[in-house]
Amino acid sequence: MPFDIDIAVVGAGAAGLGAATRLAALGRSCLVLEAGMRVGGRAYTESASLGAPFDHGASWLHVAEHNPLTPVARRLGFTLREGERRRREILLIGDRHATPAEKAAHDAACDAWEEAAEARAAQGGPDVSIAEAVPHGGYWDATASHWLGTTICGVEPWKNSLRDYIDTGLDGETPQIAEGYGTLVARLAEGLPVRLGAPVHRIRADGAITLEGPGGTLRARGCIVTVSTGVLAAGGLRFEPGLPAEVEAAIAGLPLALLSKIALRGGEGLGLGPFARLGRRLEGAGDHPMSWLVAPFGRDHAVGFLGGEAAWALAREGPAAAEAFARADLARYFGAAAVARAFPHPAVATDWGENPLFQGAYTYALVGAAGARAVLAGARLADGRIRFAGEACHTRYAGTVGGAWASGMAAAEALSATLPG
Ligand SMILES: Cc1cc2nc3c(=O)[nH]c(=O)nc-3n(C[C@H](O)[C@H](O)[C@H](O)COP(=O)(O)OP(=O)(O)OC[C@H]3O[C@@H](n4cnc5c(N)ncnc54)[C@H](O)[C@@H]3O)c2cc1C
Repeated sequence: MPFDIDIAVVGAGAAGLGAATRLAALGRSCLVLEAGMRVGGRAYTESASLGAPFDHGASWLHVAEHNPLTPVARRLGFTLREGERRRREILLIGDRHATPAEKAAHDAACDAWEEAAEARAAQGGPDVSIAEAVPHGGYWDATASHWLGTTICGVEPWKNSLRDYIDTGLDGETPQIAEGYGTLVARLAEGLPVRLGAPVHRIRADGAITLEGPGGTLRARGCIVTVSTGVLAAGGLRFEPGLPAEVEAAIAGLPLALLSKIALRGGEGLGLGPFARLGRRLEGAGDHPMSWLVAPFGRDHAVGFLGGEAAWALAREGPAAAEAFARADLARYFGAAAVARAFPHPAVATDWGENPLFQGAYTYALVGAAGARAVLAGARLADGRIRFAGEACHTRYAGTVGGAWASGMAAAEALSATLPG
């Protein structure tokens, strides 16, 4: 039976590019089919709208000590900048600045939140939601849950598996890349066989693995699928024969969370130094404070972060609503007139929630579904000729670029070992 290629890779994000890099090293012919018109997937740097690199998706090199992309970034001459994890330049309580003692209490509550989650997970027993493990009722507890749960995880802590949160916890160094994380990932695609604008809609397994899309068909010996679990759950890619029940369950157990960024160009006159962080105390149900990073790398813009249900709602409403929301949040610190003066340009709002090629930002696990990542990573469809890779498949560094890259490499090795030489 004639094959066009040894291994087809679906998706040119970090996982797909990691897989293609490994396959090239293993001497396997491969082709990466990417639906979009650019590489990098959820690692995407764009400079046109803010006049400086802006990472719409990933921007922090999480767990830099163990991140496979740290040495690569250094070798390629990228500029890494260490960041402080939580210290806030301005912390608002209502309309006033928190005192140093109140800031210290806020930081202590965040530490206690993480310690409580770890302690509860260490007890073992059935999985529970993060919300069941962390402190409630203290002055800063809801705010800590808002930052560490809803914002960073992109999902409310009551929906999120404690076991998965602990298993995939991100500790260690967290530098940012001045040129942009997306720029680094795009650089890694150079020289790899990638076809852009080539969506795959169906994968059939019989004598060959046949990938079908509007651009035609490709016959391969094996295939690595790296699209997000959001895309898989939405039926953006169909399989024939259909997926086994345990794989369907694993996909359903790993939905996409949402973290949105809204960036405003400007910021002069606010008296804030590079990398200033702003946040405010959550003022009850219905309040959704944004976390702000002002003047990253000394650049003239500010980036507001919003996660969870509020981010999904805003994504549905569109960019104008997102901009109004962001300006209103920032106005609490400086007043609406000062915000209008300091940020005279239109905002840039990310669209991960509404983009059908992603369907969200990164995965979390439903309560009880902490084992789903291993199921997806280990799934061997069509006698092992079809494998999954991507951030959802990494059992330690899920939700990261480094984890996606490593998972692509692992899938490439496993699949290559299965196929005849
Ligand atoms: C706002 C935000 C902030 C983040 N912050 C960080 C961070 O600071 N640090 C960090 O490490 N990670 C961060 N992440 C997560 C990180 O970006 C992802 O974990 C990682 O990039 C996922 O890579 P992937 O290859 O698994 O998936 P993707 O990047 O989603 O790649 C899959 C590719 O498949 C393509 N595709 C979809 N459907 C089809 C189809 N039918 N046919 C062909 N191609 C298709 C998509 O276009 C995409 O390019 C963030 C993500 C977001 C959105």
